[in-house]
Amino acid sequence: MKIISSPLELKEHLKNIKLSVGFVPTMGALHEGHISLIKKAKEQNEMVVVSIFLNPTQFLKGEDLEKYPKKDEADKKICSLSGVDVIFFPQTSDMYGVDEVSILAPKVRGYVLEGQSRPGHFNGVLTVVMKLLNIVNPTRAYFGKKDAQQLNLISLMVKQLFMNVEIVPVDTVREKDGLALSSRNIYLNKDERVEALKVASSLRAASAMVSKGVLNSHEIMDSMREVLAPLEIFYVEILDREFNPLLHVEIGNTVILVEVNVGTTRLLDNIWL
Ligand code: AMP
Repeated sequence: MKIISSPLELKEHLKNIKLSVGFVPTMGALHEGHISLIKKAKEQNEMVVVSIFLNPTQFLKGEDLEKYPKKDEADKKICSLSGVDVIFFPQTSDMYGVDEVSILAPKVRGYVLEGQSRPGHFNGVLTVVMKLLNIVNPTRAYFGKKDAQQLNLISLMVKQLFMNVEIVPVDTVREKDGLALSSRNIYLNKDERVEALKVASSLRAASAMVSKGVLNSHEIMDSMREVLAPLEIFYVEILDREFNPLLHVEIGNTVILVEVNVGTTRLLDNIWL
């Protein structure tokens, strides 16, 4: 396994490789969720590149950039055991200079849901993903469905800017009790960890209602809010797969999303029905 920190060196390394390349961008502190992306990339490609880069431009002032977990050595071990061929491990100065060109998230879809509570967040996400895709030039790039809005906006960017990469969505990996794996889960104390289960419970409640034939979005969202109380709710939404609001759940074309604060930890989750 090679570890490369310079974008130009990585470009040079990959230039003459004629293999299909699967790419998994991460911010490190790797867990089973990231590993499932890597596994899928291994299944579908001859070579796998993982990037580990805590991207400062997607954090707003006052967010958790400074305290975001760092596990560089453990991450390298996980990548090596998972059969990763190259880790791209740049410094911020390798990725950003001054007076930079950047990508702007769409004015509507980039500023709803998480984009509403974190205005500008998706500009940083799209800019870094564009840079990473240009450096690695992969055949396929892998993103978790857990960050459904991020996945939606990256897919939009690739389509609208006519980019040559296939975006592959990967199912959310959960703890046995339902909590979606996230690098931020380590911020939760014991009581908060219990409270956090309400997120997955609210989605299970929604799914159970749909199974019983309740398709009215408002009815479902009201029940979800009851399950989530008294957590601070940023949003509960029922959207189609293009992220347009749905008055009624359409099986095969629906995402139900929730984002809450548990203590001071922002947790997001969703299900695709
Ligand atoms: P992050 O390191 O948080 O930027 O995540 C890197 C990638 O892993 C993103 O595409 C995430 O959507 C994905 N990811 C994070 N958590 C999970 C999870 N529990 N299951 C599947 N994918 C995940």
